[in-house]
Amino acid sequence: MKTVSCNLCGADLKSYYGKRPVAVPLVLGHEFLSIIVENPNGEEFTTDYNNQMIYKGDRVIFYIIHFCSTCYYCNNGLPQKCINQQKIGHSVFSVLPMGGLSSFNVFDKHIPIFRIPNKVSDFFAGTLTCSFTTAYTALSTLKLGFSREFVVVGSGLLAVFLCLILKEKKATTITVVINDIAKASVFSKAEVHEIILLEGALSRKTMKYDCLIDAAGDSTLIERAITDLTDFGEIVLLGSTHPVNDIKINPEMLVRKCISIHSVHNYTPKDLSEALSLMEKMYAKIAFVENYCADFQFSNVKEAFQYAKQFNPLRCKINFAM
Ligand SMILES: [Zn+2]
Ligand SMILES: [Zn+2]
Repeated sequence: MKTVSCNLCGADLKSYYGKRPVAVPLVLGHEFLSIIVENPNGEEFTTDYNNQMIYKGDRVIFYIIHFCSTCYYCNNGLPQKCINQQKIGHSVFSVLPMGGLSSFNVFDKHIPIFRIPNKVSDFFAGTLTCSFTTAYTALSTLKLGFSREFVVVGSGLLAVFLCLILKEKKATTITVVINDIAKASVFSKAEVHEIILLEGALSRKTMKYDCLIDAAGDSTLIERAITDLTDFGEIVLLGSTHPVNDIKINPEMLVRKCISIHSVHNYTPKDLSEALSLMEKMYAKIAFVENYCADFQFSNVKEAFQYAKQFNPLRCKINFAM
């Protein structure tokens, strides 16, 4: 598979700048699009996860976890926690380097592959293997649906996608808490109902809402949510993928208010397939997000990492020479 483009995700930046523990040596990059250049079986075509025919030259993405299919988690439909997993862009592969910042990758036949429709851009195809599908999966955990008041915490692409999907699902209200004022414009374009700066949210005496979705790993707001939430309130945690502060929880309050806490880390191939369908359906409404992404050639990948640190765009996208 030849890499066409790879978005630098927040996790890549944290790994690159030493803010999260990583195994080395590894090839970073897990939001990427490839084209098929060779099939070692000599066949001209094969089929993807959704049983669509795929041919040499087709644009494809992959499920980013190599899983064993035999462990307890694999047998229970949870390959994202396979005990023998190797994760593209995160793990040290024993034979070949595997990552979106490699010009080529070799994929084993049993790794789920997804053909990308023409209308989905390289940037958006990349987001399907991390941010977009994680946002979709996080919102799939909710027990009581979308006719409620939501608070989303986060200023990054994950928070943007959470708001856009909530909007698509007709959430009653969407409030976003951001720590970077420069991000206000993308959220106002996403037509959220209210944008609050983090300091503002922390200084408010009371906030009442039904669901908190944390895409930032903000321990203070997560702790506070337990007091703020209405009865049957739900908390979805997905942002704490780096070291964060502990929180204090009062079990009596959890019980009396019947609060649920869901945690999401990665997703299944089925989640990815469903997220792709949803993306196609709402594509016209989300396409503007790509304007908040900065493009670099692969030969300038170092500059891209520096630019990402200095200017914090929603994504830097690395384009490979074809
Ligand atoms: Zn990521
Ligand atoms: Zn397994």
